[in-house]
Amino acid sequence: MSDPLTAEHVLEFPGGYTRSTGPVIGRFLTELRAGRIVGARTAEGRVLVPPLEYDPATGDPVTGEYVEVGPAGTVTACAWVAEPRPEHPLDRPFAWALIKLDGADTALVHAVDAGNPKAVAPGTRVWPVWRGERSGHITDISCFAPEVTRIVSPVRTPYTLQAGGALRVFLEGIRRGVFIGGRCASCGQVYVPYRLSCPQCGIAIGEQVELPDTGTITTFAINNLPDPRAPEVPFVSAYVLLDGSDVPVIALVGGIPAHEVRQGMRVKAEWVPESERTASMANIRWFAPTGEPDVEL
Ligand SMILES: [Zn+2]
Repeated sequence: MSDPLTAEHVLEFPGGYTRSTGPVIGRFLTELRAGRIVGARTAEGRVLVPPLEYDPATGDPVTGEYVEVGPAGTVTACAWVAEPRPEHPLDRPFAWALIKLDGADTALVHAVDAGNPKAVAPGTRVWPVWRGERSGHITDISCFAPEVTRIVSPVRTPYTLQAGGALRVFLEGIRRGVFIGGRCASCGQVYVPYRLSCPQCGIAIGEQVELPDTGTITTFAINNLPDPRAPEVPFVSAYVLLDGSDVPVIALVGGIPAHEVRQGMRVKAEWVPESERTASMANIRWFAPTGEPDVEL
């Protein structure tokens, strides 16, 4: 089938078509120029916005009383314009919407600058965005915009964490390349990092124990999201039960492909060179396999 024959035409009054407003629309536009939106009260008490000379419901003339409405309103219906035309009020995608201004009984058509179609729907609260220079035209309102319901605040809080007594003992050990735990005199459990009281017995822990830097993986996770502390993605974080300890520590596992890590695997801490050590867990790059046979957990 052949394409239909078409031709482009333009209906235009160069320089504009001058028309008189009449008193009702004239009042509406004059109020717009002053930064106000008014409606006309009908004999039945309804408020028509934009105002009309006659009540469309009854055909009676409106009362001559003007009522200020809005400025905010609620979208009752809308249509998204993804590709604005040159004569449209906005040069970016926007919505045409029916907006029922607060205090009005009818809805006004205007553009809503919402950014994306999901940000405007029936029920959305919108406010007018006024033009800086107004002339008494509907475009004195550039558009409507959704209410401000959220803002983005930059959040960054540098802070200094002071290690308490027990953590200080532990981290001083880490500076020397040693894990320090604490043994409870009552139940005999060895806790690492070193702590001042036994969570099971509730009594003070007096005895410090130096633990080796070897242990067994009890459980682990393969992580596919980057982390500044991990060398690459995917990386493995694991609970490592240090030899002689009764509670595991969490640590990175390295020196082995992520999918080869398993429960029961024997590992040893890989320390950064002594000259680079501080009182920080960053001294341990990760735990790497020792090559010993796996341990039954
Ligand atoms: Zn205890």
